Amino acid sequence: MSAAIGFLAGFCREHPLDDKILLVPSFVAGRQIGDALAEAAGSWINLRFVTTSMLAAEVLERAGEAGAARPMTSSAELALTDRLFRELLAAGELEYFGRAGASPGLALALHRAIRDLRLDGRTSGDLSPGQFLVERKGRELALILARYEKALADDGLLDLAGLLGGAAKAAAKGPLVSFWVLSPLDSRLSRLESELVKSAAAGRLILVPGDPVVGLDRPRQAWPAPGPADLSGAGRLTWLFAPRQAPPEKEARIEIFRALGPANECREILRRLYAEQVPFDQVEILTPPASDHATVFHLLAARTGLPVTFGDGIPVSFTSPGRLFFGLAAWLADDFSSDEIGRLLENGDLTLPAGPSGTALPARTACRLLRNAMIGWGRDRYLERLAALREGHQADLAALATGEGEEDGEDTEERRSGFKDAIAGIEALSAAIGRILDLVPRPGAAGVYDFRRLCEAFARLIGEFAGSASDLDGRARQALLDRLGEFVAESRLPGLPLKEALDLIRTAGIALRIGASPPLAGRLHVAALRSGGYSGRPHTFVAGLDEASVPGRGLQDPVLLDEERAAISPSLQTSADALRSDLYGLAAVLASLRGRVVLSYPSFDVVEGRESFPSSVVLQAFRLLRGDPDLDYAALDRALPEAAGFLPGGPDRAFDEAEWWLDRLTAEPRPDGRRSVAANFPALAAGLAALEARAGDRLTAHDGLVDIGPLRAEVDPVNGDQAVMSATRLELLAKCPFGYFLRHVLKVQPPEEVAFDRTRWLDPLQRGSLIHEILCEFMTAVAGRGEDVRASKHAGVMTEMAEAHVARMKLRVPPPSDSIFESERLDIRETLAIFMAAEEKRETKGRPLAFEKAIPGESIALDGRRSFRLRGFIDRVDLIGRDTYRIIDYKTGNPAPYEGLVHFGRGRTLQPALYAVALEQMLAREQPGRAPRVAESGYLFPSRRGEGDEIMVRDFDRGRLRALLGDLLALLENGYFIAGPSAKCDYCDYRAACISGGPESSAAKREANPEVFAAYDKLDEYK
Ligand code: SF4
Repeated sequence: MSAAIGFLAGFCREHPLDDKILLVPSFVAGRQIGDALAEAAGSWINLRFVTTSMLAAEVLERAGEAGAARPMTSSAELALTDRLFRELLAAGELEYFGRAGASPGLALALHRAIRDLRLDGRTSGDLSPGQFLVERKGRELALILARYEKALADDGLLDLAGLLGGAAKAAAKGPLVSFWVLSPLDSRLSRLESELVKSAAAGRLILVPGDPVVGLDRPRQAWPAPGPADLSGAGRLTWLFAPRQAPPEKEARIEIFRALGPANECREILRRLYAEQVPFDQVEILTPPASDHATVFHLLAARTGLPVTFGDGIPVSFTSPGRLFFGLAAWLADDFSSDEIGRLLENGDLTLPAGPSGTALPARTACRLLRNAMIGWGRDRYLERLAALREGHQADLAALATGEGEEDGEDTEERRSGFKDAIAGIEALSAAIGRILDLVPRPGAAGVYDFRRLCEAFARLIGEFAGSASDLDGRARQALLDRLGEFVAESRLPGLPLKEALDLIRTAGIALRIGASPPLAGRLHVAALRSGGYSGRPHTFVAGLDEASVPGRGLQDPVLLDEERAAISPSLQTSADALRSDLYGLAAVLASLRGRVVLSYPSFDVVEGRESFPSSVVLQAFRLLRGDPDLDYAALDRALPEAAGFLPGGPDRAFDEAEWWLDRLTAEPRPDGRRSVAANFPALAAGLAALEARAGDRLTAHDGLVDIGPLRAEVDPVNGDQAVMSATRLELLAKCPFGYFLRHVLKVQPPEEVAFDRTRWLDPLQRGSLIHEILCEFMTAVAGRGEDVRASKHAGVMTEMAEAHVARMKLRVPPPSDSIFESERLDIRETLAIFMAAEEKRETKGRPLAFEKAIPGESIALDGRRSFRLRGFIDRVDLIGRDTYRIIDYKTGNPAPYEGLVHFGRGRTLQPALYAVALEQMLAREQPGRAPRVAESGYLFPSRRGEGDEIMVRDFDRGRLRALLGDLLALLENGYFIAGPSAKCDYCDYRAACISGGPESSAAKREANPEVFAAYDKLDEYK
């Protein structure tokens, strides 16, 4: 039993019928003390647990002064400080503080300084410039404080200092309460708090002694010790800081361990509990402030169902409404980025309301529609782009009704119902997004936001769209609404730029914690070192004791420096006081612990990849444990076992399945995991068999040597009747048959990725199609007038057309910024100028005849017997002589892959020859009796890199093309889909999913499979 509980038990026995209050730091602490007392004393009555602010409120109530002013929470105090600061800044009255500009960090620092001064009973009148190192700062701080005091008086507000000070004054007028006031001797109170306690107790103040701490001075803010401490019942940790004086007969149940990072430290605690079969509700875990340990326990609890209570609650950002709150701020800050809102939907943090059908649009559908709508950024694009998407589907539906939109091999009814579903989904999504956007206010004329309206918008968005599946989510939602409500009540700020407004709103959630709970049966209890240690549980783990965290760095307050604090008031706490006080607090908590105490520290920072070192507290505990005060850090290092890491160290210590597996897989003799996996998971067994098959010399189905027999009708363009080829498709077959197999046989679709890139406007495909459209329109117009392209004459027309196309594209694809848009627009104009220059200097002008000429399904013969169908579009066809034609394809990319092209590029560049043959056939049909001939067919590169050059194929052997196509399609016919010897995996859409092993692994099988590779090698002959 701790000294405090022993004392309280005795006091309750002696004064059973008297009213008594015990001052506690929080309800959670009070509840634990009550439980421990019941266990120690059997029963107690007439004892209440109150905080100093509750005592103040009760005193004011009894004095009849309650209700005169409205109490404020600390976030309302912060919001008030921020408002006053901004007002003074706008009025030009803050030269010193104004240099940094308004920010949440400065508002927090000023609020802390004002709070400290006021809790010490100081007013603006007590501050004089001479007390400050920089007089101007002193004057400005006094000014801000004076405005703060005036605002409280004018608006009838009561901050914490006002509440405590008012109550202290009321109590000083005469006894108002008739109960014993018990205050822990080691409580560290502000000046106003101790004044209140003394005057409220009116002679009935009882100081409750805690377990003594030997070797450290008592903090200045604690009650003065009435006399020498009674050491008779003290536990050994009382002498943590004076191991030399520790009585030898006192045994300590102290253990020490270290771990590789906080996560392994937490896991090691759990492993010890599992191995020793310690019930969870026998354990309390204490962690330093701002450490990661509570977060780790929360994540473990969320993932594994570990039962845990958190004495200080968890950050609101761990809950779904918290994520929505911060996500909405990020959404607005990122110009309404559709990626951001998609993330909120996908994670289930933003829940869409049910539509008229009574069901809500599933999040996945909503995300897909958002992606397809190509929104990117900008609030005005949402409804516009969704409407465009809906119109597109309506047009598709109408086309289906007339039979126009039917596609080979597609089920028309299925497509119709797909379009209808999509239209209904878009309408539901538009309604929900419209509602969300309606709630978000627009900036005023100067581009600034009305802060109050923005806070109201956040509150309504959280209220309407936050999920509250769990009790914790429900509480988080309400806590956020309360905080935002306080901001709204306090908000009389002038308009703020968006960034400043959002920074300020975020402060409402940053420090917010919810779900604080006393220890409960069957659950581990995790608490902060400052607020824990009350549970009386027999096993206490004190984690995170590294030298950076405990006792802390003791940094000075940036607004009120130590020297200035000392000059203003002897009772204001300095950084050295705070450090001493924290260390003493830690020592007092440790001294009060009974039973087993396990201290630990992270000895390695796994994120930064560097060693970390134990706190001096660990060394002191080690000295105490060994009874040798001269031991040093080197001795500690030698004595501690290896740091606990990712392996649990035995199956009975494994905390979860992953640990159990890690243990089993690393235990000697090593288990045959592969065999066990294969025996239990048929799909994985098939994967393992595939791996094995690929590892051998022989080519198998797993390398891409497949029998397409059952699918021949569908996938073989020569022997089947469904597959229609294109130049791109044939070139893919030549480059990488395995890629062809994935895309056109297995029909694996690469993931639909509409990721908006903040560094560019158009991707290469979009840019290419935009330039194609412009050139097609331009050339159609110029050729229609029977003119040759001349820059001096046609530059204006080109510019006009280009601007119209660019503007339309801008509607469809949002540029990330004006400057990026402008730079890409100029780049497009440059490309068009290069094109005109190239056209102007062309020697054989010819007459453009057709643009975007469709090849609708031309039959291309391989020999007298066999053929396949070809589809495609020819960018441009010129007539360059009698029955003589030229084909031009515009390429906006890099010309390098086409350099050195003779005729067929080993089957990898088939388009020029293929289009030539197809066009000749089509023209021959259109012009009976003529013998049209394509004399040149190839590419024009109107780009900076391509410099307007052309790469043309001329005089190729039509018979050789047929032979090449026959050899190429034979790969498909024979089911030879092995990764191509020169496949460019780095640029392949299937890279992430491809299991073929790429060209190297297929090349390794060359010797054992000569016939397959001979079929591939044949293609190389077609230059
Ligand atoms: S990743 Fe390489 S081997 Fe696989 S499909 Fe793509 S190009 Fe072919």
